[in-house]
Amino acid sequence: MIDSVDTLEEAEEVISNITPEEKEQLDLNIVEKYTQNKEEIETKDIELAKNEIQSKVEKKLEEEKKLENMPEINGVKLAYLPITGTITSRYGASSKIRRSNHTGLDIAATLGTPIKVVSSGIVTCASYQGSYGNIVKIDHGNGIETWYAHTSKMYVEVGQEVKAGEIIAAVGTTGNSTGPHLHLEIRINGEHVNPQNYLYQ
Ligand SMILES: [Zn+2]
Repeated sequence: MIDSVDTLEEAEEVISNITPEEKEQLDLNIVEKYTQNKEEIETKDIELAKNEIQSKVEKKLEEEKKLENMPEINGVKLAYLPITGTITSRYGASSKIRRSNHTGLDIAATLGTPIKVVSSGIVTCASYQGSYGNIVKIDHGNGIETWYAHTSKMYVEVGQEVKAGEIIAAVGTTGNSTGPHLHLEIRINGEHVNPQNYLYQ
């Protein structure tokens, strides 16, 4: 007895070679169904692979488009948002807990949320600095710096090169802070500017 065949042709050959008595004993439908199922599975695999490639290509194109739409300052592409969260204090806002107007943008997020660096650059500060708490400063060149304050953890060291999107710190509430948030500052030639001119618009 033949248990299985690989193709319909093979199945047909087997069927044509058996005697009418044997035919009755065999459940030929099962043989045929088996073969058809096998082809179906293979077709499905190919289609799945095709879909996977297609969705990967689409994702890449989408990411490229997103990147294209990201802002630039003096030729420095701000390619990543450091975190997603809720904006709790805008640039320039006055508050009882601050002596001067707000020099950055506050984005509240869960304690420990990874913070991505917006663009490639070199770490110029990664230490505790008074009201800023644990602050990481990145020099992106062309007079552009970004600051990430109140962090709970810092994963980088001064002098280290970082790539856009790299995780440099974790959201915390160190320094002058009432809850876990990121204080993001953008500085152009040493002067703080409204981060929302570029990000979190
Ligand atoms: Zn702030």
